[in-house]
Formats: sequence, structure tokens, C-alpha cells
Amino acid sequence: MTAAHPAQERPAIEIVLAAPRGFCAGVDRAIQIVERALERFGAPVYVRHEIVHNRFVVDTLAAKGAVFVDELDEVPAGAPVVFSAHGVPKSVPAAAKARRLAYLDATCPLVSKVHREAERHHREGRRIILIGHQGHPEVIGTMGQLPDGDVLLIETVADVAKLQITGDQPLAYITQTTLSVDDTAEIIAALKARFPGIEGPKKEDICYATTNRQGAVKAIAARCDAMLVIGAPNSSNSLRLVEVAKRAGCDRALLVQRAADIDWAQIGDARAVGITAGASAPETLVEEVIDAFRARYEVTVREVSTARESVQFKLPAALDVSAA
Ligand code: SF4
Repeated sequence: MTAAHPAQERPAIEIVLAAPRGFCAGVDRAIQIVERALERFGAPVYVRHEIVHNRFVVDTLAAKGAVFVDELDEVPAGAPVVFSAHGVPKSVPAAAKARRLAYLDATCPLVSKVHREAERHHREGRRIILIGHQGHPEVIGTMGQLPDGDVLLIETVADVAKLQITGDQPLAYITQTTLSVDDTAEIIAALKARFPGIEGPKKEDICYATTNRQGAVKAIAARCDAMLVIGAPNSSNSLRLVEVAKRAGCDRALLVQRAADIDWAQIGDARAVGITAGASAPETLVEEVIDAFRARYEVTVREVSTARESVQFKLPAALDVSAA
């Protein structure tokens, strides 16, 4: 481990900051929903699952009075509960209504859009193939918009060949919002090659934030000796950024949750280090990581911006408290 040095002994290093990085509009909205609920109802406000996949965000909200639970039966009768940004199966609001809980749905509107697509295809008689990662909360929520067994999940190009589709029911595909843009394009191409009539979304299901963060990493990866992706190990979009960086030419791409996680031996003799952050990682953690570099290196920071983002999502009307 490299210890902090006095200024005159510090080696020079360039930090190449990817932009856009960090919080997206859906994460920002979800956090605001919890904060507004705390203001409106007072603590405790219950939150089903991590509101977004970031420990720092969860701990900060918990310090303000949010209580994170795995399932609704842990929420006392009458207490307010928020559903996370990843979306929930239909059974969850139904159970909340049955228990007469006041609930707030912080599902990202871009995830809700995929839910509506799934419902439309189902209504119009199509069999739905979902491209996504098994077990991810968003995938559980999307599959849970329709009856059990009505959505087929695939994760890879190889899965396309294994699909057992019988009869002549028309097909449609939808995707998780936080996938690798390039991997997903390959899977979609394989689906279209095998099922030429398959329908897909008019515009990508992969969201603007995922696409832009991957684009920014691609633009800087080849010129960086190492890349730090600030994000959680269960954050799909952050994990994809590590893969994208490696594929775009930066073999030393590492996921860190915050500065304390940095293995300085792995930074080693790097002269240019890229930094980005997943959509659920706040900018304060980026600043913390840069400060940790400043304690060890003579740092110059250069930001490379590949897209401008102005997306903002409205909060639910009057926080849209839906009491049964
Ligand atoms: Fe919404 Fe995309 Fe952000 Fe997920 S990553 S919360 S889908 S904007």
C-alpha cells in the first residue's frame, strides 16, 4: 500500500474524469422521494430494498430516519413505505394495498416504460423475451408485471439458441435498462436472426444514463493506464462500466465503492487514471477518491465530456401517496 507522501516526493498523475458519470435522473428522483416522505411523514419512513444500489446513499438516508426492509411484512401497519427505483412486481403494491399501507413508488419512469411495453405486448398476444440478469431486482420487477411463466428471460447470445419456442405465437423482446449496449446489440441481432418477425421497442430500453456513461468510458479507456469505477458490487450499470472499460482497452479497470477501497498497489505506476461513477454513486464519492489521489500524487484533473444530460423526472404529484 502506498502511503501519503509530502508534496515534493509525490509522483505526477493525471486523472481523466469521464462525463457524464454518477447520478442519473431516476436515482435523483428516488432519493428525493425518500427525503420528501421523511419531511412529510416524519421518521421512520420504510423503504423496501435499497432505494438505489449504493451503500453511502442508503446509510445517509438511514441516518435521516429511513428504515430499509426486505419485505413488506416488516413494515408496521399504517407506516409509509417507498418502493425502490428498480421497480417492483405487481404483487408488491397489491400486498401494500391489502395491508392498507401508504406507499410511494420510486420506480424510475424509464423502468416503468418497460413495464408498460411488457403489458402492451402481452395484451396484443405476443410472447415476451426479456434480456436481463437473473435475480436483479429490475428483472424481478419487470417479470412480475405479467403472470408467472409469461416472460422468458435470456442473458446471453448463447441463450437465444436454447430458447424453446413452440407454436406460432408472435414474439417481442424487451430489455433491462442497465445492460451493456454492445452485448445487448449482439443478443438482439441473434434474436432477429432466429425470429425475423420479433418486435422490439421503438427506442432502446437501455436508458440514456447507461448509454451515456458507457460512451464516456469508451472515449477515455484506451488512454488510461487504470480506471476506477465508483459503484456498488450489486449495481448492474457500474459492473457494466468495468466491462466496457476493459473492452475499450483499459485492462486495469477496477470497481471501488469509495476511496477506502482503493488498492494502491493496483494503481502502481499508472500515469493516467480514468474515473467514472455508476448511476447510483454520488459525486461526493468521486471527490473523495480524487482527494485520496491528491494525498499520494501530484494530481492534474481533466474532464472528458461526451454527452450533455438534462433529463429530469417529476416527483409524483403531491408525492402521490396512494392509500388503500
Ligand atoms: Fe432510470 Fe437509467 Fe437511472 Fe436506472 S440507470 S434509475 S433506468 S435513468
